[in-house]
Order: sequence, then structure tokens, then C-alpha cells
Amino acid sequence: MPDTGSPGPRALAWGNEATREILYAIAEDVRTRAAFKVCAIEVARADGMLEFVAIAGVREGEQQLLGQASPLAAMYPALALGADYGDFTFVAAEWMPAESLQFISEHGFVPDLPPPASPDAWHAQDMLAARLIDDRGRVRGILYLDEPLSGLRPTPMEFLELSDRLSLQLRAVLTAFEREELSNRARVAEAAAEALRGLSIRAGLTGFLADARPHLVQGLRAEELEIRLFGHQRDDDATLAPGFRTELDDLARRAWERRTVVIIEPQAVWGDPGLGVQARLQLSSYVATRGALALVCVPLATADEPVGYLLVLRTDMRWTEVESIAAQALGEDVGRAIQLAQAFEREQRLVSELQRVDARRTEFARTVSHELKNPLTVVVAHLELLQDSELSAQQQYSVEAIERAVFRLQGLLGDLAMISREVRENELWGPVDIGRLVEESAENHRAVAMVSGIELDSKIVGTGLLVTGSTEELRSVVNNLLSNAVKYSDPGGRVTLEVQHVGNEVVVTCADEGIGISPDNQRRLFNDFFRSTNPEALRRPGTGLGLSIVRRVVEHHGGRVEVQSELGRGSVFTIHLPSA
Ligand code: ADP
Repeated sequence: MPDTGSPGPRALAWGNEATREILYAIAEDVRTRAAFKVCAIEVARADGMLEFVAIAGVREGEQQLLGQASPLAAMYPALALGADYGDFTFVAAEWMPAESLQFISEHGFVPDLPPPASPDAWHAQDMLAARLIDDRGRVRGILYLDEPLSGLRPTPMEFLELSDRLSLQLRAVLTAFEREELSNRARVAEAAAEALRGLSIRAGLTGFLADARPHLVQGLRAEELEIRLFGHQRDDDATLAPGFRTELDDLARRAWERRTVVIIEPQAVWGDPGLGVQARLQLSSYVATRGALALVCVPLATADEPVGYLLVLRTDMRWTEVESIAAQALGEDVGRAIQLAQAFEREQRLVSELQRVDARRTEFARTVSHELKNPLTVVVAHLELLQDSELSAQQQYSVEAIERAVFRLQGLLGDLAMISREVRENELWGPVDIGRLVEESAENHRAVAMVSGIELDSKIVGTGLLVTGSTEELRSVVNNLLSNAVKYSDPGGRVTLEVQHVGNEVVVTCADEGIGISPDNQRRLFNDFFRSTNPEALRRPGTGLGLSIVRRVVEHHGGRVEVQSELGRGSVFTIHLPSA
């Protein structure tokens, strides 16, 4: 059973083997040039830890410090006490307070030396260190020298000379640090860029993920990689850590909150203090049984929510801390892309759902109008037969009532047929004189208006009010507007139907002083079968088809329809049609 208690800082978290070898070679070179027995190099990691990355000149058994990490900040008090000589700082053992001596004996290298014979002899706890500072003034690491071959503490002149002699080597260490970090960062960042370059959200989420995958596998050096999205509960196709779906989902959410990645290694789990002991042991054992070095969880997230996570299985390369930082940035880029693709997919689904509903409704209207046509023809034929025969006054009254009802049914069937017509034929199109349609419609409605106590005015401004289109369809537009205006007006009201040229449009306005339409109803007015929620309107007969026909026809003619209305005050409908 691996020990996954609460470990100290993660060891060996920085850099790859090749870079460590280069650093070891530099350390060897430095100790030879400096005439010291031991040279050690520590790198400052982004997590604030110093990690030993090279130790030259010690015996086998003394290499155990390699890879160990200790807090950088703990080194500062000791260094502050020293005397500076160029790049180096010397701190004599006797200058150090007890805590610093304690810290160094726990975390640093203390050679096994006999007690100093003279005041100028090198002391086992003497420290000679060069801070490695980059161009931006940040401490990137520390190089130590220990055990001068002479056995003596160098003089100030000798320290200065040493600093001069080693300046190139110190530079080389810094360069090796930077190259290691930059190349890793660049590799991961490039994977993210590549993954996003081909991004076409139109390909949908699945397409995007499939395209992105190989780039992520390569950039993250993954032996296996899995992309998991929250809300896509399909554990059956999990290939990595199957059976740990919930644990990993939670772990990823915590990682997102802490803006970090989580590294699960056979010995320990790093970056998730919230993980329970049981889960920690199980996940670590899983990584061990896979014979892997680590399973890394990279949250995929936008700035304000996690959308999922990547699981990266590493078998042959240790996951480094620089990779963690780069991967976290990658997770944000990919997370945002996923969110976009998801939004696009949702929208697509909604659109096709609406299209399906619309198609079904149209189909229904077509079937109904078709199926009603035959029986209605039969009714009409028999009505005509009846009209030719001798009828009593009562019978005559009934026949007329049937006739009126049939007339209304025929109007309804005409409307249904019009809205269910899928592709409107343009072949029968020609110039249509809207002025004449307005005149004709006003004439037809005058009687009804008069009976209802409504004054009807029509105004034709100018001549040649021509539009290219279907006379039949445009006539139904004008008729629908006018019959609504009359229908939804009260006795004493006035209705005005007007047509004129405005710019290169023919504009028809139909204004009434009737019951008006609420703002909410105005938004839905032109939908098929929409009838107002206003009881005042519902009292008057209607089907809710008139205005939807108006909108379809007007739009099919390249125009638009607008409404302005106020409850209790009246309404103005305006249609704009391109002039012929
Ligand atoms: P309907 O057959 O119900 O009149 P329409 O599609 O022509 O169907 O109109 C839809 C709804 O819009 C009507 O039910 C009515 O509430 C409202 N409406 C249409 N025109 C007017 C108008 N001029 N004044 C007030 N309400 C109107």
C-alpha cells in the first residue's frame, strides 16, 4: 500500500532528465574550476520551493538530496546574514542563528568534516551560495559550493576572483533553467494553439473534440488521454480510471477552484488537499497498477465555470511543475472553446426542434384543409339543390344560415391552405396595383363597418402604387388588416386605410381607434393561431391565422409589417413593400 499520507512538497517536480544531466555537467565543471569538492544546484520552482537538481562531488549515498524540495523563503534569513562578493554570498557557520543551522542541516548538504583546526579553516556548516537571478530580477535558483580543497575559508579577494571566474557557468545554469521551462511551456501552449486553430464550432462539440485530441495527446505527452465533460454522464466509455467518475469529477471541480492541476502518482496525490484518504489511496493504487508515473487531471474551464477536465496518463516522463502551469492555461483555452461549441450545439438543437414543430403544424393544417374540402363541396352542392326547390319560410331561413356558415368555413379553409403552402409559386407574379386593392377592400368592408357603427375612410395618395407579386395574396393582406380593424373597433370608432409611396416603397397603413393590443401580445401577434389574451378581443370570432398570413405574404414579397398599438386607444398596422 503506497504511503499517501500528507507528504511534504512534491519532489522531482522540476525539469526532465536531459536538463538535469546538463546541470550536473555544469556542476562538475564549476567545482573543478572553483577547486571545491562539492557543487550543488537548486532551482526555484513556481510553487515557491527550491529543488535540488544537481549535486556533483559527493559519494553515492549522499545523493539523496536530489529532487528534494524546501521553501525558498526559508533560505533568505540565512543569506541575509552573509557577506556578498560579486555573485556569491558567504555565510560563516558562527554568523547563523540556531534556526538557520537547523534548517540547513535538515534540508541542505552538510559535509562530514572534522572540527575546524584554525579560525580560517572551512567549517562543515559554512555556506557559500550564488543566487541565480534572471534579467527580470527574479531568483531562479541557488548554486552552492562546499568543502574547498584547501580546507580553508577563502579570503575576500579569493571570493571575488571566484565570482569572476564562474560568471559564465552561472549564466549557463540560468540558461538551462530558462530553456527547460520555456520549451515545456511552448510545447503545451502550441498544443493548445493547434487544438484551437482548427476550431470550427460548426463542426459541433464532437467534431471539435475529435480534432483537438491528437494535439492534446502530443502536447501533453500523454500515453492515454481522456476528455470528460460535466453533464455528459457516460461512465461506460471511460477508459481511464473507470469506476472513479464521481471522485474525479469532484477532484476536477476542486482543482478548478484552486486554479491548479492535480497529479496522482503511485505514492501520493498532489494539488488536492480536499481529496479523502480512501479515494487518495484508491486513485494512487490505480496509477500504480497501470504501471504509470502519473495520472494528471487538468480542469477545462472558462473564467466562471468548469466545463470538464482532461485526464492525462503518463508512463515514461515525469510530469513537471512547469507543465502544470502551462496545462492550466491550456485548460482555460480549451474550456472556452468547448463552451462555445456547446452553446452552438444547443442552439442548433433548438432550431431543429422548432423547425420540426413548425413542419408538423404546417402538415396538420394541410391535412385538415384537404380533408375538409370534399365534405364541404358536398354541402355546397346540396345547398344549391335546395335553393332550386320550393322551401317554406323556416326552411329558407335555415338554408341562409347554413350558407353563411359555409362561407366562413370556406374562408377558414382558404387561410389554412395559404399558411400550409410550403413553396409559394412565383410564376404567377406580375405588377399589382395596391391602390386598387385598397379601394376594392374598403368598398367590400363598408357595409359591415356601417352596420357596426364604424366610420371607414380610405386614402390613396398618388398613382402608380405598383408592387410585383401575387394579386390574390396581396389582396388577402389588405383584407385581413381591414377586417381586423373593423372587427376590433367599437361603435363610433373610425378606421383609416391609406396607401402611398415612401421612398422606393409602397406603404399601406391601417389605423383604428379600437380595443388596442398589449405590448406582450404585440410580440406574438404574427404567430400562427395566435389569438389575443384580452377577453375583449376573444369575444369576437377569429382563428388567429389572419396576421400570420399577412406576415408570410409580406415577407415573401420582400417587405415587412409593423404594429403600433396601445390598449384601449387603437392600433396602426403598417406594411412596407418594395415598389415595382
Ligand atoms: P383573428 O382571426 O383572431 O383576428 P389575427 O391573426 O388576424 O387573428 O389576429 C390575431 C390577434 O391579434 C387577434 O386575435 C386580436 O386579438 C389581435 N388583433 C389583430 N388586429 C387587431 C386590431 N386591429 N386591434 C386589436 N387587436 C387586433
